Amino acid sequence: MNYEPVIGLEVHCQLLTDSKIFCGCSTRFGRPPNTNVCPVCLGMPGVLPVLNRRTVDFALRAALALHCEVQPVSVFARKNYFYPDLPKGYQISMYDRPLALRGWLEIDPPGGRRRVGITRVHMEEDAGKLLHEGFPDSDRKSHVDYNRSGVPLIEIVSEPDMRSPDEAHAYYSTLRDLLVEIGITDGNMEEGSLRCDANVSLRPKGRTAFGTKVELKNLNSFRFVQRALEHEIARQTQALDAGQRIVQETRLYDPNEDRTYAMRSKEEAHDYRYFPEPDLLPLAVDAAWIDAVKRALPSEMLAARRDRFVTQYGLAPQMAATLTGSHDLAGYFEATAAGSGDPRGAANWIATEVLRKLNEEKKDLGAIALRPETLGKLVRLVKDGAISGKIAKNVFEVIYPTGRDPAEIVKEKGLVQVSDEGVLTAAIEAVVAASPDQLQKYRAGKTTLLGYFVGQVIKATGGKANPALVSRLLKERLDRP
Ligand SMILES: [Zn+2]
Repeated sequence: MNYEPVIGLEVHCQLLTDSKIFCGCSTRFGRPPNTNVCPVCLGMPGVLPVLNRRTVDFALRAALALHCEVQPVSVFARKNYFYPDLPKGYQISMYDRPLALRGWLEIDPPGGRRRVGITRVHMEEDAGKLLHEGFPDSDRKSHVDYNRSGVPLIEIVSEPDMRSPDEAHAYYSTLRDLLVEIGITDGNMEEGSLRCDANVSLRPKGRTAFGTKVELKNLNSFRFVQRALEHEIARQTQALDAGQRIVQETRLYDPNEDRTYAMRSKEEAHDYRYFPEPDLLPLAVDAAWIDAVKRALPSEMLAARRDRFVTQYGLAPQMAATLTGSHDLAGYFEATAAGSGDPRGAANWIATEVLRKLNEEKKDLGAIALRPETLGKLVRLVKDGAISGKIAKNVFEVIYPTGRDPAEIVKEKGLVQVSDEGVLTAAIEAVVAASPDQLQKYRAGKTTLLGYFVGQVIKATGGKANPALVSRLLKERLDRP
């Protein structure tokens, strides 16, 4: 039987606030266990949560960047369950009245561009962390660290719009880049800043009704998302082909064994006995608040900028993707291109020379002396034929660390490209006279030797000869009987 996978992802994202969502404790990662804690995040009786406004700002940024409809009023709810990392016995989350609904994210999987629906974005608090290893009594006891208890999260739930592990991978990585771009998370997956659960079911191709879904928990890297889904799809296909029924359950992916195994039967919402959080007022977000958040977002997101670079400057998609790695880099390119008269040339200079230097020196664009306007002048000198590309590389080495005007360097060092036919013809005659063997082979049909002659003439002029002109003159000279 031919099945179609139906995949939806739930992504938890830790927000980059300094303090926790309902108390003033620090959110710093890696502190000694139970040092970022207070009665509120330890769930002591009688304490009251106070909502951190910045958490809402950050959650709104995500909601708007994902084209969601922000709800004028949303409500925090208690999600009740027992686990030792949850000191109150409930998690403050949002349930039937989340912060934002109905958005979308555009992705570029191998099969072509698609839009994935966003069901909802809501805020909640993180739980603590159980430590099962690393203590002298770890064979008998587990320890718990509440530093993470109360760290703000948003949960982003997608529609079941993805049809392959490739698409799920593209969605997750595009979403991560977007959340990092808007400055609400560091996106650090090793430290758990981003976590992903996937729902996957199969249905016979052509049928619209969904099959029974299985939830895969804790897929902590892009690769694990892809591999766990591939594995789970294979498992469900085999079961369905054997006439078995899929059980609705939660499964864990083990990357070491590359398989999933059943963890528990899937809870239903009623298992959590949700009810509105009585200690917090409903959250009202007015138009002025939304406008203020909108102003803090980039006016054009990187994905849109990447598309524009292709249409406006004629860059290849891969080059456009490289140059939109950050807004700083994209801005540097646009400023370089503006004065260069040659956007594609500008793109090449940045992608090869500038990024190589930054990489070697482990520096940011903001820390270098070479201004984009200055680099644009260098690109223009090449474009106008004033200097050759080879000479330009030498000039670049001078202007990169100093930020000096390239035209000045060219003048100072006498590097202006030689385009005087008289001068070039003399150099050509000298080279031809000194290379009788190559001349004979060339005339015998080995025309690839033209490159050798061009190289010799350019060398004879100290690299200053105009290569296009040399090539034309040489061809005339060598082909003359
Ligand atoms: Zn606290």
